[in-house]
Amino acid sequence: MPELPTNWRNLDPVPEDRQPHIPENWTPSQSFLRIMDKCDRAAYLRLRFGDAGSHELNRGAIAHMVFERLERMIAAPTPENEKPDWLVSAQERHEQAAIQVPPEIGREVLYEVMRENPELQVCAEERDALRYMVDHFCRGMTFADPIIGIETTLTLEINGFRVLIRPDLLEEPDSRTLRIRDHKTAWPPDAEEFRRQAFDANDNPRWAGNYQLNMAAVVAAFGVADDGAPLGNYQRYELVLDFPRVLYPDGIAERTVVVDRLQVHSFRDDLELQLDRLRDVCLAERKWQPTPGSHCRNECPASDACPLPPILRPESQLADLDSLADLEQLAANVNFMGERGTALKKRLKSAALRLEEENPGVLDLGNGDRGVRIGRDLAFVFIPKEGEEIKDKAKLLEAGEAAEHGVPFIRSDHVRATEGIEFAKRKTALPPRAVELEPEQRWENPPNREEKYD
Ligand code: SF4
Repeated sequence: MPELPTNWRNLDPVPEDRQPHIPENWTPSQSFLRIMDKCDRAAYLRLRFGDAGSHELNRGAIAHMVFERLERMIAAPTPENEKPDWLVSAQERHEQAAIQVPPEIGREVLYEVMRENPELQVCAEERDALRYMVDHFCRGMTFADPIIGIETTLTLEINGFRVLIRPDLLEEPDSRTLRIRDHKTAWPPDAEEFRRQAFDANDNPRWAGNYQLNMAAVVAAFGVADDGAPLGNYQRYELVLDFPRVLYPDGIAERTVVVDRLQVHSFRDDLELQLDRLRDVCLAERKWQPTPGSHCRNECPASDACPLPPILRPESQLADLDSLADLEQLAANVNFMGERGTALKKRLKSAALRLEEENPGVLDLGNGDRGVRIGRDLAFVFIPKEGEEIKDKAKLLEAGEAAEHGVPFIRSDHVRATEGIEFAKRKTALPPRAVELEPEQRWENPPNREEKYD
């Protein structure tokens, strides 16, 4: 059997000069660890290049700021009250349960947050989504249980790292139960699908339902709050994802998993395993293995810099096609990618022509064609195109009618020759290159592009 050119399943270490900058006393964030849980290389790319924003991410950031402000109005209705949130009287708790922020106030807070954070750009569609999510939040959320933390920072020293989380909301339904809420601005997963994901056949929870809540339960159980004290000795953790996109008569959509302390110990073992890999393999050996999957599509911070050739990760577009929502998501992606593909092809064509002007002959494919290689026998090729166009249709018709009555028809008076260049994908026999580009050179950024991002 021929030897594989590269062992894609166990790639070499990232070269020394491409190491991300890791500050002293680095605290791996929850979002970094969540990405790393799917793909070590994606985590490396995030460290190296940071994370570009998107309308969806900005929508989430804005919504969380708005929800936080609204929750603070509810949890601390008297600003002069400086007691810790959980030392509220029964009367205050009763009042808290009855409070709902009027939707008009929610809307004002939304616009206040958008004005204060102009860098968080959201398009009209996302602004609309934000408007109705804030409206649903105001009309559908009630807080009957003591709120013990809003965006509280919790930290945990573990395996030589200090990890931190900021759960959206911490509530204490009773002294043995901690409820951890995470507000989501995406659409909720189908209830049955979520049940399948998070529970076994006997309806016992297998895990928290998502990485974020798994980790939140671990840090809440074994870590400390800002004041250095643990949150409490809870036996049960109620992990709630709520989805203000959907408002039912009895409140906004929620997906809840309740886990006991024993299960949280298993989640802690998972986190330790991951942090061991981060320390001993990723950081010590500089090995950040790419592992493709559906996360390549919308979670990778810089998929263009992935060392795996796209051909080895296209099926990630087709992963998890189990529900109508997955199909609709993929249909939207296909449409979006089609439009982006057309725009990218235009850019490729003009960049190729520019490069050729600077380096004559650079587009010579070695078989008589000019173009850009796609693979071994496929290329975008420049094909000269000759044609004709009518100068004036009305005059042409007139001349045609006149010709029927014997007036001579002079073709060149009505039609002009055109010339153009088509840039088309063609299957074509390409001679091997003198020197093949190494995958790292091909897919990692060339030096001048790196400078732009570093
Ligand atoms: S494209 Fe996929 S495999 Fe490559 S780094 Fe990103 S997430 Fe990992």
